[in-house]
This record gives sequence, structure tokens and C-alpha cells, in this order.
Amino acid sequence: MLGLVRVLSGRIALVLSMIIVGLAVFAAIAAPWLPIADPNAMDAMPYTPPGAEHWLGTDNYGRDVLSRIVWGARLALLVALISSAIASFLGIVLGSISGYFGGLIDTVLSRTFDVFLLIPSFFLVLLIVALFGSRIEFTMVAIALTTWPRSARIMRAQVLSLKSRVYVQAAKAAGASHARTLIRHIIPNGLAPIITDATILMGLAVLTEAGLSFLGLGDQNAVSWGRMIFDGQRELRLAPWMSIFPGVSLLLLVAAFNLLGDGLNEALNPQLRRLTTRAAQKPTCELVPTVPEPDAPILRVSNLRMAYDLGSNSIAPVDGVSFTLQRGDSLGVVGESGCGKSSLGAAILQVMAPNARMTDGDIDLAGAPILRDGCRVVHNGRDSLASLRWTKAAIIFQSAMNALNPVMKVGDQLIEAFLLHRTDANRDAAMQRVVAVFDLIGVPRARMGSYPHELSGGMRQRVMIALSLLHEPELLVADEPTTALDVLVQDQILGEIDALKKQMGLSLILISHDMGAVAETCRRVAVMYAGEIIEIAPTETIFGYARHPYTQALLAALPTVSGEKRLPKTLPGEPVNMAEPMTACRFAPRCEKAADICRTTRPPRVDVAPEHEALCHFAGLVRT
Ligand code: SF4
Repeated sequence: MLGLVRVLSGRIALVLSMIIVGLAVFAAIAAPWLPIADPNAMDAMPYTPPGAEHWLGTDNYGRDVLSRIVWGARLALLVALISSAIASFLGIVLGSISGYFGGLIDTVLSRTFDVFLLIPSFFLVLLIVALFGSRIEFTMVAIALTTWPRSARIMRAQVLSLKSRVYVQAAKAAGASHARTLIRHIIPNGLAPIITDATILMGLAVLTEAGLSFLGLGDQNAVSWGRMIFDGQRELRLAPWMSIFPGVSLLLLVAAFNLLGDGLNEALNPQLRRLTTRAAQKPTCELVPTVPEPDAPILRVSNLRMAYDLGSNSIAPVDGVSFTLQRGDSLGVVGESGCGKSSLGAAILQVMAPNARMTDGDIDLAGAPILRDGCRVVHNGRDSLASLRWTKAAIIFQSAMNALNPVMKVGDQLIEAFLLHRTDANRDAAMQRVVAVFDLIGVPRARMGSYPHELSGGMRQRVMIALSLLHEPELLVADEPTTALDVLVQDQILGEIDALKKQMGLSLILISHDMGAVAETCRRVAVMYAGEIIEIAPTETIFGYARHPYTQALLAALPTVSGEKRLPKTLPGEPVNMAEPMTACRFAPRCEKAADICRTTRPPRVDVAPEHEALCHFAGLVRT
């Protein structure tokens, strides 16, 4: 409900801001043709209060306030547009050069940005206008010269992040010049935050021009809201409308520009849009804890369902998943990208994206219920999982570079994580534990003082493993722990996880798209397709006697190093659209063995053999 209110209030604010800016633009363009009085005509009675003849009253010279507000909008928008355009242009050019070329050029330009940002911009504008005069052209240039470093800093950061992307490297390798690389491949991709910032700069420019006019330093030949406020504040008791109406106009336009900036930011940044969409969670359920059975499985998952809210749509990346993991056992979860395996890992430990929600299912961790019918279990208001996460079960996230804080030394991050869960421990005890896990994983102790970017990919991943082992969990969920590592380091990391599993008696869920990695490390394999486990069996059974056509297709796609030479078979088609309701076998559109029944009826879960289940109409039959 709260999320809905946030989204709706954000949309209403955006629409209102667009209406205000739209009205101001209309007034500015149409001012000469609107049926309003001449803004400088002094032919009415001074201090006439708002009424039928002068809707917003007249000022001390008998000039119509409404007319002057409309003409004032013209000046405000002119200043906003031109000064923010100049500032953005300068920012884009200098920020791009600074970020792209780096080295001495970057040092000189960055220090220049910093110096400009250190000077209070309004005083700099005052100085420029005082030196060169108060004509509106000078005012606009002065505002642009004091605001461009903001855009330059943003553009520099964008270019720094974009210039190492593969498509940029490919363009350079293909012979693109620096100018072409920047103009064609980098700048267009980095413009979104600049456009957002430009709207905020417009609000700033309107305020600055009004401030200058208020102080008497604005263009004396133009109608300005700032000047109107100055004239009005001297007559506040006699004619409050003289300052109130231009003041409100100024406030509304500046607020509208800022809200528009926020709205554009959200609209141009899909990642932000996803993060600000918060799914409505089911209410928690209160359960009195019972003493867990000592021989209870480490994890029992039953009919687990989870959904992502995507605007007006939602998809179910985990849709009716059930399995049990005994203590000390290991399960590999495999499937192609988008099948729901990472979402399953996140759902087990309830570390999901803000737009994700549980819709159904039960989870028991080490015999303790943590989820019932999709509701988080609480006792005396305390989340049951909170005391078990990291101590009973921990997760190794994909991509260590994103999971570690880039501005904290890795040792401090681990110490902080230890103290968060062990409030009785001091820093020395935390340090000892971190040293112990670093030794266990094979990370040199000297690396505790390194920042994440100073470590190699393999070393960062080892630090992530050390982080997950800090509290000696019984269950480790490793989500693609070797993503983006080279083959040799992948092999080392998997070997280390396997050794830890044996040494510490860990239970392991290894999520991977690499069937070979799973075969080496796990006793059982669960194959996921479109949010469901479509086959689960001991590893040898999966590799030797797979019954589901999708598992067979995955195995056929593996390259072989011995036996008859053959090209790996690819699986045509794409996974189904999970936003649509499922009434048939999800794999039917891609299945070579599909029959009529597959397209009309959901397949049953067939017990093929002990520990071997498959979700296929024909899993119990021997078919060729
Ligand atoms: S149920 Fe039919 S379509 Fe689905 S996997 Fe089995 S044979 Fe293929």
C-alpha cells in the first residue's frame, strides 16, 4: 500500500510539474498575442486589488500584475533555457575530454571543476554582472559559467565508466578516431543524467536571475519576477498581491523544474525505476517457535512462489519450487539465463530486489520455519530468518566487485559484518575471526588492507567466500560464484568450495549455468526451466539417464573432449513469457518430443526412481 502511495504521489507530482512548466512555456510564447494589458502601461488605478478587471490586481504604478507575471515568465524561461544549454554544452565537452583522455588533461580539468565548485556561484554571478553590466545576455552567460562544472563532473564520471565497455573497445579496435568514439559511442550513452541535471539547472537559473533582479542587478528593460517581488515587499501591507503572486509563480516554476528533473531521471534510468518500485509484501505471520528436530534437513522448500512487479505486469521467476536438502548434502541448480535459478537463491535467504515479493510457499531452515504460505515468520515481532541468516545460512553473491563496498578496505568490511551479528564480540575478536577465514580460504593476510579494486577477480571472489563463512554457517548458497573469472581461476574457486564443503561439513546449493562445474561439486542436480524445477536427480543419473527433454538438450549442448567429434547441439527458440498464465507444458514450444497433450495439459511430477523426479508427461515411459 505504501509503495502504491509512493508511486502514485510521484506520478501526480510529475504530471503537475509538467503542467506548470507547460503553462509557463505557453505564457512565454503567446504573451504578445494574449488578451492582456501592456505590462508597462500605467493607465490603471495604482494598488487596485484583484478583481474582475485586473485578476491579480495592479501595482504601485497602476500596471497589471497578471500581465507582468506572464511577461516575467518569458524572461524566466529564456534565462533558464539558454544558461542551462550553455552550461550543459560546456559540461559535456570538458567532462568528456577529462574522462576520456585521463592523465594530465584529467588532472588539470578536474582541478578546474573543483575550483569553480568551491566558489559560491551566486557571488561569482554577482561579480561578473557587476564587472560587465546587467544586460540579460551577460546574466545568462554568468549563470552558465558558474554552473557548468556540475555537468562536467557528471559527464566525466559517465565517460570514465563507459570508456571501458566492450563496444567502445570494439569501436576503437575497428579504427574509430577519438572524436568519433566519443561522439558516436560514448556521449550519447552518458547523456541521461546530464538531461536530468539540465532541468535542475533551469530552476537554479530562474532563481539566480530573480535574485539578481531583486538586488537591482537584473536587466532594467525586462519584466522580471525578482524585480516585482522587490517592488511588492515595500508595499506588503498596502498591496500584498504585488509580491505574493510573482513569489508563488517563482516558487512553482522552480519546484516544477526540480520535480521534472527527478521524473526524467526515473524515466531515463530503467534501473532506478526498478529499484524505486517496491513490491507489496504479504503480511508476516506470528508462530511460536518449536524446538527444531536435531535430524531435520538443513533446508526444506515447499511450493515456493515469488514474483517481480514490473509496472503493470508481474512475472514469476520461481513458480512452485519444492526440494529438500539434507545436512552435508550438495545440490547444483542449473538452467539457461532467466530460468529463475538466481531468484530461487535470493528467495531462500530473502535477499530479494525491492520489486520482488513472495506469493506462496514454505521454507524451513535447520528445522525452523522461516516462511509459511509466502509470509515471513516472526516471533515476538522478530523475523525468524534474521537470527539464522549468516549464522545458519549464508550466500555468495554473483560478481564480487558489485557485492563489496568499493570505498571500504575488505578487512574492515569483514570485521563490520562479523560485529553486526556478534554484538557481544569486540574488534580484536572480529579481527581474529577474519584472519582465520582468510587463512582458511588462502587469502594473504596483507590483503585485509586492500580495497576491492586492488584485488584480482579470483581474490575478490575468495574474499566473498570468506565473508560468507565468517559465522560458520551450515548452509552455503553460492550464486554463480565463478562468473567473469577465467577458466583456471574458476577451477581453483570451485575446488576450494568443494574442499570447504568436506572440511566444514557444509551443505551447499551451487547455482550455475555450467553443468561441468555442478557435476564436479554437487551430489544432486536440479534443472530449472521457466521458474520450475523440471528435473531433479543425483548427478550421475542426470548425466546418464536424464528423462526430461530439456535436461537432455542441455547435456547435448555440452562440448565433448573425447569420443566421436560432433558439434554441440543448440536448443532453438526462447524461454516462455513468464508473465502469461501457464496451462500447458512450459517447454512444449521448444520440445522435439511434444505431443498434443503437452500443449493443453500441465505435466505431472513423475517419480522416475528414488531421488529422481521429472516434470514431463512421458518421464515414466522410455521414449526415443
Ligand atoms: S511434457 Fe511434452 S512438451 Fe513437455 S517436456 Fe515432456 S514431452 Fe516435452
